[in-house]
Amino acid sequence: MIDQLYRKAVLTVAGQKTIEHVVRSRGWGVAQRFVAGESVQTALGAVQELRRDGILGNLDLLGEFVASPDRANEFADKVLNLLDEAHAAGVPGYVSVKLSSVGQGQTVAGADLGLTNARRIVGRAKQYGGFVCLDMEDHPRVDVTLSQFRTLVGEFGAAHVGTVLQSYLYRSEADRAALDDLHPNLRIVKGAYLEPETVAMPDKADVDASYRRLVYAHLSAGNYVNVATHDESIIRDVQHYVLAHGISKDAFEFQMLYGVRRDLQRQLAAEGYRVRAYIPYGRDWYPYFSRRIAERPANVMFVLRGMLRG
Ligand SMILES: Cc1cc2nc3c(=O)[nH]c(=O)nc-3n(C[C@H](O)[C@H](O)[C@H](O)COP(=O)(O)OP(=O)(O)OC[C@H]3O[C@@H](n4cnc5c(N)ncnc54)[C@H](O)[C@@H]3O)c2cc1C
Repeated sequence: MIDQLYRKAVLTVAGQKTIEHVVRSRGWGVAQRFVAGESVQTALGAVQELRRDGILGNLDLLGEFVASPDRANEFADKVLNLLDEAHAAGVPGYVSVKLSSVGQGQTVAGADLGLTNARRIVGRAKQYGGFVCLDMEDHPRVDVTLSQFRTLVGEFGAAHVGTVLQSYLYRSEADRAALDDLHPNLRIVKGAYLEPETVAMPDKADVDASYRRLVYAHLSAGNYVNVATHDESIIRDVQHYVLAHGISKDAFEFQMLYGVRRDLQRQLAAEGYRVRAYIPYGRDWYPYFSRRIAERPANVMFVLRGMLRG
């Protein structure tokens, strides 16, 4: 409950235009703890650096909801360019995309633009043997995202497109079971958005218990799981679960965010687990950065100290 209140307070303050203006103009130095630069080249450099520690990359061009079809198409073109540049640099084309950034909810030529652009992106990734994960955003987008995911798996195969379930949502266990026929590659997260209690569990203990149930159920159904968390007690429990159930290390991977628990990422990779870091880059870093700050009280002090130092 306290975690929820903290998150709510930070995200509400971060949503105010004056705060956004100050942080955007003075906070880039601090944001770089979580964001791998502004250009494709710096992001590819970050993948190559992580590779030296045996950690894989998941590239994310930062950007969220855009209201105009032209901007959505432009954003999708940039993701295509990222895939091309990654391919040219010999970096695997593993990317994450928020469908709201490529036009989800906007109808163009009788079709949802988010789906049209996702087809272009997943098609290009498949051409390079890559993979696209459809990030999960706030709860009003869950139905449409899962339905578009189903369409994309039908067209491109589950080896090239995956999506995310958030354990704080009451609905996620039922959503997971309903996707089983696709044998989908799912990333399980706790959830990062400000959600009402009518749809999301307010207590951390419930969110954590739901997280474990989702991971165990998806593994037991024989599906590939991206265990995306920095929570060491969950990571330990997953390690015990797979050992006890004879599940191979190839059936799942651990995923963490760039700049968070790099020590743990290295340690797991050294122990022979597949580990992937989510590497965001780009100019539109503010919403992503706000969610990271809202995850941990110590991060607010980190930001304030960093900004005061200039
Ligand atoms: C690879 C990846 C992809 C994600 N994709 C999505 C998505 O598509 N949709 C979505 O809603 N959410 C997404 N998230 C965010 C997720 O929902 C959580 O908000 C975030 O991972 C924090 O939760 P936690 O599981 O680490 O557990 P928590 O219980 O929040 O944290 C456990 C411990 O991890 C450390 N930690 C956690 N967060 C931070 C931080 N920001 N800074 C420093 N330390 C921290 C702390 O030591 C903390 O005690 C993603 C997370 C990851 C790792």
